[in-house]
Amino acid sequence: MIDTLVNQTLSSRKAVVLVVEDDPISAIISTQALADIYITHHVSDGRAAVAFCEATPPDLVLMDINMPGISGLEACDILKRNVATKDIPVMFITAASDPQSEDECWDAGCVDFISKPFSVKTLRHRVNSHLSVKILTDELKRLATSDGLTNIRNRRFFDEFFLAQSKLAARNQEPLGLLMIDIDFFKQYNDTYGHIKGDECLKIVAEALTQAFVRPTDCVARYGGEEFVVVLPNTDKKGLKHVGEHLIDIIRSLKLAHAGSPLKTLTISMGGALVEQGSLKTEEAIAQADKHLYAAKQGGRNRFIMA
Ligand code: GH3
Ligand code: MG
Ligand code: MG
Repeated sequence: MIDTLVNQTLSSRKAVVLVVEDDPISAIISTQALADIYITHHVSDGRAAVAFCEATPPDLVLMDINMPGISGLEACDILKRNVATKDIPVMFITAASDPQSEDECWDAGCVDFISKPFSVKTLRHRVNSHLSVKILTDELKRLATSDGLTNIRNRRFFDEFFLAQSKLAARNQEPLGLLMIDIDFFKQYNDTYGHIKGDECLKIVAEALTQAFVRPTDCVARYGGEEFVVVLPNTDKKGLKHVGEHLIDIIRSLKLAHAGSPLKTLTISMGGALVEQGSLKTEEAIAQADKHLYAAKQGGRNRFIMA
């Protein structure tokens, strides 16, 4: 099982390596040493390396130390302080081999370093072993935060994401929307069509909810069972109402037959809550969305209710 995961993960995509080197000849040597196995990019200074990593994070950075402008050590330090780039492994190429220079490399937060002159074979082996660890770690993180059945984000991801987004919303004085979704008469769906069809239905609903979003910051997750949650950063009351009603329509217009429902087609009920300028605690927002969801069920299902 683990072996299969390792092989699938490592062969599923080509890793991206950023070579940061001011000397054109050295840049060509490093890039050519790796170009047949990886996608390689090259920039000539530390500032450009930081900008590249922020815009399009590579899987590994191979960084020269002595460069014009900021040094490789400083660039690495900047990458490690930024939450968006801190997990990118940095490997230094250093001209020095004294103990103090080695310590400076570790202190900057690198995973490894290689001293000039180096054998191309050693470079390839070192890069390869760090990339294997990086890609597997990424895959394990993805698996730990996604739902096994529907492949969308799971409850664990939602808990962390919602908490982080509510802190961000409070800091930026922005509203944050939350939607709790529950499929109507789903027990009847299983009883009528069987659990395998029930599972397929959950996948279809998850996919439809995910497809409905265009903002990359929005997040749909499976809360558990036949319940889903949606987190909508920087969304006000009007926006939340619009999205909620749109989602009800999306699921209804899938026209999935549901003979066990009085509506004869699969529908969802939904409750909304707004964390306005960080005023509501996350648990309070969930409780409020839940209360509105209950009201939507009581009111006849197939509807969206928010305060
Ligand atoms: P309501 O309209 O009030 O929401 O009624 P309901 O039947 O949807 O609600 P209830 O909570 O009574 O039942 C939820 C059902 O969801 C029961 C359970 O079998 C089903 N369910 C939960 N998780 C899964 C799953 O992973 N796969 C399948 N097939 N069914 C699931
Ligand atoms: Mg339920
Ligand atoms: Mg239900």
